[in-house]
Amino acid sequence: MELKPNQVRLMMLQVADAIIVAEPMLSQADRDLGDGDHGLGMKRGMEAVKAQLEPMEAASVEQVFVATGTAMMTSMGGASGALFGTVYRAGGKAVAGREVLDAEGLALFLQAALEGVMKRGGAKPGDKTMIDALAPAAEKAKEVSGLPLEEALVAVAAAAEAGKEASKAMIAQFGRAKTLGEACIGFPDAGACSVTIMLQTMLSFVKAAD
Ligand code: ADP
Ligand code: MG
Repeated sequence: MELKPNQVRLMMLQVADAIIVAEPMLSQADRDLGDGDHGLGMKRGMEAVKAQLEPMEAASVEQVFVATGTAMMTSMGGASGALFGTVYRAGGKAVAGREVLDAEGLALFLQAALEGVMKRGGAKPGDKTMIDALAPAAEKAKEVSGLPLEEALVAVAAAAEAGKEASKAMIAQFGRAKTLGEACIGFPDAGACSVTIMLQTMLSFVKAAD
């Protein structure tokens, strides 16, 4: 199956609701490692995304993703607003001209999102950031880009989840968590939790849309 622009819009509204519901968990994850503001920042970003997407007449897949990124970037502020904004803006531009979102488009989206975040934030895999969920997801998406979207998302969401779990063992090199050193071992990165929830929700949407 493939998603038309309006279905991508509905999927992103579902992603926004899932992040808003997860706010207490994301706040706790960030509290374990940083300053605790990640959940509320993401919630604010997702409320702005809903305000943009609810009345939108979606003309393209690119438009929905770029509007999502712009809403996050302009409402959240801080490092993660710019970085999550980049996920959707860079990812969205990579699917420009595509009439639907399929597994191939998902792979292009994730690869561009990863490259955009790495360029903007300077972190690499292993630094205990959202990249530790995004990079394995992008790599898996490339591998499964020939599959139907639902099957591809099953594998991609699982790869993000495994990456988030692997981030527990890492020592943070960025953000507030950097000062914790070995004390951050055992806790997953908050941004990697957000990436995982986003991909899991995309999968739930596609499953239900089938
Ligand atoms: P802040 O760091 O400003 O408090 P948040 O708490 O909202 O922002 O977000 C923290 C998350 O942002 C981290 O869990 C991590 O995933 C992500 N992050 C922080 N710095 C970077 C970076 N340089 N590259 C990629 N992701 C980063
Ligand atoms: Mg924080």
